[in-house]
Amino acid sequence: MRSAKSRAWFRRAQRLIPGGVNSPVRAWKAVGGHPVLIASGNGSRVRDVDGNEYVDFVGSWGPLILGHRHPRIVRAVRDALQHGTTFGAPTTLEVRLAELISKLVPSIEKVRLVSSGTEATMSALRLARAFTGRPKIVKFDGCYHGHADGLLVRAGSGAATFGLPDSPGVVGGAARETIVAAFNDSPSVERLFARYGSRIAAVIVEPVCGNMGVIPPQPGFLSTLRDLTRRHHALLIFDEVITGFRLALGGAQELYRVRPDLTCLGKIAGGGLPLAAFGGRREIMDLLAPDGPVYQAGTLSGNPLSVAAGLATLEELARDRNAYRKLERKSRFLEEGFTEALRRHDIAAVINRVGSMMTVFFGVRSVRNAADARRCDRRRFAGFFHGMLRRGIYLPPAPFEAAFVSLAHSRADLERAVDALDRWAAREGSG
Ligand code: PLP
Repeated sequence: MRSAKSRAWFRRAQRLIPGGVNSPVRAWKAVGGHPVLIASGNGSRVRDVDGNEYVDFVGSWGPLILGHRHPRIVRAVRDALQHGTTFGAPTTLEVRLAELISKLVPSIEKVRLVSSGTEATMSALRLARAFTGRPKIVKFDGCYHGHADGLLVRAGSGAATFGLPDSPGVVGGAARETIVAAFNDSPSVERLFARYGSRIAAVIVEPVCGNMGVIPPQPGFLSTLRDLTRRHHALLIFDEVITGFRLALGGAQELYRVRPDLTCLGKIAGGGLPLAAFGGRREIMDLLAPDGPVYQAGTLSGNPLSVAAGLATLEELARDRNAYRKLERKSRFLEEGFTEALRRHDIAAVINRVGSMMTVFFGVRSVRNAADARRCDRRRFAGFFHGMLRRGIYLPPAPFEAAFVSLAHSRADLERAVDALDRWAAREGSG
């Protein structure tokens, strides 16, 4: 694998960009070595600046469910570009996107577009506090909801990878009202409600956790959250920034049949351009300015290029009635191939998968919460990552992340990934 150009560019980046990256996990600190700089993507593949090509299972961390440069998205963005890049005024495209989101995710009676998942969760929490007149938020250990101050408490994703789940710079006041329960542990939530019930504004949860690696909700966990919040007049917020349009057109709430009060969306909703959204019950959303007193705004919110890409992606997913069946079939093939290869070479690991998101946890038997995830063998993960990379498979460069399968992955891509794992495991198992 050639890497001279990536190495040189990364050194240059480190001089001016903190850590050489614009988002921490991109620096590969969890797996060692230096990152490859990506030059282009096409379908299921990415190519780095040294000319190496990889089958991509990062998919820009979730948005690219149709793969890179899907023709429909390229066309939509190009068409939008002909009319201008941004106006800071209402457009017809954003009305169409709002209508489609609300149709696909029926709990979203009204929706506001923003530019990042962080903005979506931050705004949803402000709204929940305003609606209930209560200060406290319950979040789950290992769930990541972006980097707003009040949410960087026991956070997953990069915050977990770097051992910084409670970031310096977050003043006590900002995080004081955030209280933490254990994922898949309903009694831990019941205890918080017993103690703080009338002061809890909302419970925010990734319905399928993607930021401690993939962790599915145990049967009944999400419906218990629904019951508890309803009983205590608190709101239930589903952070579907990853799961929205990934697990089903209606997201995890469709799959698990639980209707939250508010939902945060991002990633796929913007089709690979910066866009996110939050929405939910009409009477809550009506509190937002300019109709209500809760302030929330954005210069580039509803940006026409992002909206065009999001709309094209959602329309494409809605057009293909078999999209989610295909994703399930492809992802199951990958999971089964990986499981078999790991077993054959006697490498202890468990694979968690829900639809097209999946994580291999090494050295543990089952992972149901953040504490289980933290026990996984990170050194072996690093070896796995580099072993796969050398064999042309690009995976998330950190153990507490999800790998994503897209509709662009062909049978040959998936076979290549299974074969790569088999060859890595053959060396690793015997060594
Ligand atoms: N919520 C979840 C579940 C996420 O996975 C992420 C990012 O990965 C966010 C929120 C934050 O989104 P963004 O990175 O667009 O700010």
